[in-house]
Amino acid sequence: MDLYEYQGKELFKRVGIPVSEGRRADSPQDARAAAQELGGQLVVKAQVLTGGRGKAGGVKLAEGADDVEQKAKDILGLDINGHVVRRLWIERASDIEREYYLSITLDRGAKKPLFMFTTQGGVEIEQIAEERPEALVRLHVDPSEGFQPWVARRLIYGGGVTDPSEQKQITSIVEKLYRAFVEFDAVLCEINPLIVTPDGTVKALDSKFTVDDNALFRHPDVAEMRDTAAADPIEAFAREKGVTYVKLDGSVGIIGNGAGLAMSTVDVVAHVGGRPANFCDLGGGGSAEGVVDALEVITRDPQVKSIFFNIFGGITRGDEVARGILEALDRLDMSKYPIVVRLDGTNAEEGRRLLAEAGNPNIHPEATMLDGARRAVELAA
Ligand code: GDP
Ligand code: MN
Repeated sequence: MDLYEYQGKELFKRVGIPVSEGRRADSPQDARAAAQELGGQLVVKAQVLTGGRGKAGGVKLAEGADDVEQKAKDILGLDINGHVVRRLWIERASDIEREYYLSITLDRGAKKPLFMFTTQGGVEIEQIAEERPEALVRLHVDPSEGFQPWVARRLIYGGGVTDPSEQKQITSIVEKLYRAFVEFDAVLCEINPLIVTPDGTVKALDSKFTVDDNALFRHPDVAEMRDTAAADPIEAFAREKGVTYVKLDGSVGIIGNGAGLAMSTVDVVAHVGGRPANFCDLGGGGSAEGVVDALEVITRDPQVKSIFFNIFGGITRGDEVARGILEALDRLDMSKYPIVVRLDGTNAEEGRRLLAEAGNPNIHPEATMLDGARRAVELAA
């Protein structure tokens, strides 16, 4: 479960990591009240479960009740990577001298928590990892040994922090971040940026906090932070229809039979340079009803430009799925969407013949997964 920035900061605060004082606001009026309470220079920040808010116009400096209210109006309702802003966090603005980066994640490959630290913050961490890997200090913690003070020292010396006061503050933040990671059963705690103010104070200006869903029963207070109202309406609709649906942020809608195949299809679409909009698992069956439900779900996503059916017939027979697709197309208006169908396995030939005979100009049959993906990406452009 991903937490909003302000919720992550709340957990930071509980373990003693310094953060700015702020208030949550869900409306321009709330924002105005927060501004009056906090006073001075403030930052109005979109609360959405995605990064890159700054670049998308979701983080704005403001001063005074009118200005804060106006910025709140500008940001509420904004679409940031497919997430509509419904909540704001208004906090005291900080002066920034330098921006660092600190995170701890679960490195599943190594089966250990992994710290990452760099003093070259302010840009995407992926960019630093690629362009200046030597500037990114990576350090595993042996969970059976637990946190040792030398871990923090290795990070700050490796990152080239020489100021003694900064060293002391960051050492303490590293230790507390580890504690937050373990105490709340997190799989990610990221501070980007970790800032140094002109007067030398180090604090967390942002927070990205992900708690292991399987451990939520141990943290009822964290579980309660889930924002059910802002749950994606399409996901809610899919749950209602009994369709397995995962939202992504590209333009190719993917329907596969079986979660494994659907996820591989996501990889193949990405591999040929496309971006999946979502994926649906038809499950074992391929009845018209199931296909209609899946199509109804994925076409609610306005980002979908083409649809890629990737069907491998096992128990599900190819001709059955083909009939399901044709019947679904009779019942739904799909004229907006080019539909690529790759059908293989049991009774695939029969299925392909049925599709060809239907002569629907929206249907583009392809023989392989790779060709199907290429076609779907082309048609989504
Ligand atoms: P993100 O874009 O979603 O990662 O959101 P952040 O919370 O990291 O904010 C983006 C950027 O806005 C930061 O890297 C800062 O440069 C800037 N920013 C955020 N808060 C403040 C603040 O209090 N003062 C100043 N001067 N800039 C801020
Ligand atoms: Mn950030």
